[in-house]
Amino acid sequence: MSGILVIAEHRMDELRPVSLELIAVAVGVKAQASGPVTVAIIANDPQKYAQALSVQGVDEVICVKSAVVEFDPDAYEATVAALIAAKNPSLVLLPHSVNSLAYAPALAAKTGLGLATDAFKVEFDAGALVATRGGYGQKLNVEVDFPGKSTVVVTFRANVCKPIDAAGSPTVTQMDAPATPARGQHKKYIEAAGGGDVDIPGSEFILSIGRGVGEEDNVEQFRELAQTVGAELGCSRPIADAGWLPKSRQVGQSGKTAANCKLYIAMGISGSVQHMAGMKHVENIVAVNTDPKASIFHIARYGIVGDIFEIGEELRNQFPA
Ligand SMILES: Cc1cc2nc3c(=O)[nH]c(=O)nc-3n(C[C@H](O)[C@H](O)[C@H](O)COP(=O)(O)OP(=O)(O)OC[C@H]3O[C@@H](n4cnc5c(N)ncnc54)[C@H](O)[C@@H]3O)c2cc1C
Repeated sequence: MSGILVIAEHRMDELRPVSLELIAVAVGVKAQASGPVTVAIIANDPQKYAQALSVQGVDEVICVKSAVVEFDPDAYEATVAALIAAKNPSLVLLPHSVNSLAYAPALAAKTGLGLATDAFKVEFDAGALVATRGGYGQKLNVEVDFPGKSTVVVTFRANVCKPIDAAGSPTVTQMDAPATPARGQHKKYIEAAGGGDVDIPGSEFILSIGRGVGEEDNVEQFRELAQTVGAELGCSRPIADAGWLPKSRQVGQSGKTAANCKLYIAMGISGSVQHMAGMKHVENIVAVNTDPKASIFHIARYGIVGDIFEIGEELRNQFPA
């Protein structure tokens, strides 16, 4: 058993970005896995995704032709089992998504594979896989190992790893998915209500507010400020928990990761480990806080010890109407 098998995911005819993030994870530990990185795409017309999946470091892209047009857990379970039998990987990486949760645990249980869900790190320690995930309500990071398991299935969290930009030239092969009788029938997609307009992971410029705003009535002026400077409005958890902003704007461990952010302005945010988990990687962090000892200043490129209302006003004045 060696190498890594990545199962790419698509929805509504589009490759999900997490597929490319998982490829980056796989390529990152490829040397430790001492085997190839194989990416499989299961679709009715898998060829159309082959080029996007041909990323530097990938050795093979398998286009698995399936009779099933939309996601079906039974079809995926049977197909991934066939891919594992064909490739014997030591690690199978799946996006941590509603799709994978519908078949990965069943697949692992039925075929005796190791399983870790919602992991945000994988590494090989002297050839043995270790997956890191949250534990005890995300209060602790837990390292999971898999004694006696030569193949381990890991569902991996989105927005943790940056995709690889460079194209590669993997071998592209074809395979037919095993015929699987469908127990369900896909009717239609229904978009989740609320928060659909916010794209924290995709935003390049985020202005986030924390408990320093004091009260709900003050939120509006920061919403306007964010709009004026061209930023997406984000927040810390207390603001979302209080219902002052929707949960879709929360940045952090139990919220969104500012995955593509280039400039993050944190206003009235102390810098808890949970908040920083979603933004500490951003290259340009500007923190505004009245407390010079606030933890956020440890990771900020530019720190302003000051009142967010005064600094907000100063900033607004740089953008005359
Ligand atoms: C399992 C778990 C998951 C969590 N997930 C998340 C998460 O995803 N995201 C998240 O954010 N938190 C999360 N938390 C909560 C986290 O632990 C903190 O409680 C939270 O991040 C604190 O938010 P804050 O910085 O806005 O508030 P505080 O820690 O209260 O900080 C407010 C800051 O504002 C400053 N301030 C006050 N008034 C002003 C002013 N007028 N001008 C300037 N500065 C001012 C203060 O000096 C202070 O530093 C999680 C907690 C747990 C246990």
